[in-house]
Amino acid sequence: MNIEDKIQKDIALKPFTTWQVGGPAKYYLEIKSREDLKAAYIWAKEKKLNVYILGGGSNILVPDQGVDGLVIRMLNTKMAVKGERLECGAGVWLSSAISKAVGNNLSGLEWASGIPRATIGGAIRGNAEAFSEPISGIIETVNVFNIKNMNFQLFSNRDCGFEYRNSIFKKDLNLLIWKTVLKMRKEKSEIIKKNLEKSINFRTEKYPCLPSAGSVFKNFDPNYVKEQNPRLYDRELKNKIGRNNKIAAGLIIDMCGLKGKSMGRVKVSLEHANIIINTGKARTEEIVMLISYIKQQVRDKFGLELQEEIQYFGFT
Ligand SMILES: Cc1cc2nc3c(=O)[nH]c(=O)nc-3n(C[C@H](O)[C@H](O)[C@H](O)COP(=O)(O)OP(=O)(O)OC[C@H]3O[C@@H](n4cnc5c(N)ncnc54)[C@H](O)[C@@H]3O)c2cc1C
Repeated sequence: MNIEDKIQKDIALKPFTTWQVGGPAKYYLEIKSREDLKAAYIWAKEKKLNVYILGGGSNILVPDQGVDGLVIRMLNTKMAVKGERLECGAGVWLSSAISKAVGNNLSGLEWASGIPRATIGGAIRGNAEAFSEPISGIIETVNVFNIKNMNFQLFSNRDCGFEYRNSIFKKDLNLLIWKTVLKMRKEKSEIIKKNLEKSINFRTEKYPCLPSAGSVFKNFDPNYVKEQNPRLYDRELKNKIGRNNKIAAGLIIDMCGLKGKSMGRVKVSLEHANIIINTGKARTEEIVMLISYIKQQVRDKFGLELQEEIQYFGFT
């Protein structure tokens, strides 16, 4: 079957996002092989279409009018354990990687348990993290597809340029994550079980059950806060720097009294001020408006500029 025959038209993206909002993809393709990935890019180039990569949709906001281009869903879900190493395709669910690791007494990913619908590819791109354990801590290599020369390349951990919620894959949109090797460590099953419980309990307690995309904004660098608002920093925040050396954006949003603030059918979660929930049949437009309102309030009240952690997907 050639690539054109595998491409579908006008496919709803809403069910593929944890926020459950957004319009359809003009063209949509599920990819399992390197050959199809290459062929898809050649096809899109000929048609002069933008290409967007969809992981689990747990960190994106899709426009209501849909995405005018080709949306590729990464479904390369192969996994293999080799000693202390876990090889994963970019489309592997984090939850599946955790199960595989746990089944082999491998530790290193437990912090991610309870994150819904996220893939390994999406987690690497944004250097996902919890409890001061970023995924970059266990990445050995990443197999990358370079759109510029249509070749696959092997990146070391260092080549990936990992930073807080950042990596080379966010900065250079020509680089796609195809697969990775995670370097885990052997651990006693009781300890792994304890780690998993900690992570799941935290998320059950802190995260709302309604649709969301997790934290909307990045946490603040304490030096930035100190520079912008020394008074606030000295009085309220210098003792509230987290183990990851950040000041929680949720704390600042809460200090603006925004927990529970709603706009149409979306609302700032009462459990966690950095989360916006879809209370039912919300539109992306409403989320965009609430994001903009929160940013304006934090700017006006404290002189701080929030930056989105969520990714605007297919906005033009
Ligand atoms: C309830 C909840 C809790 C969460 N908790 C956490 C948490 O504790 N810590 C945390 O860090 N995050 C958390 N998140 C956010 C989110 O789950 C992570 O950022 C996750 O890693 C995103 O992966 P994804 O597959 O869903 O990516 P998507 O949302 O599908 O995509 C995110 C971005 O990555 C790009 N992308 C996806 N796959 C690839 C690829 N193979 N190559 C190149 N680019 C790609 C997409 O184009 C998009 O720009 C949470 C989300 C929810 C809903």
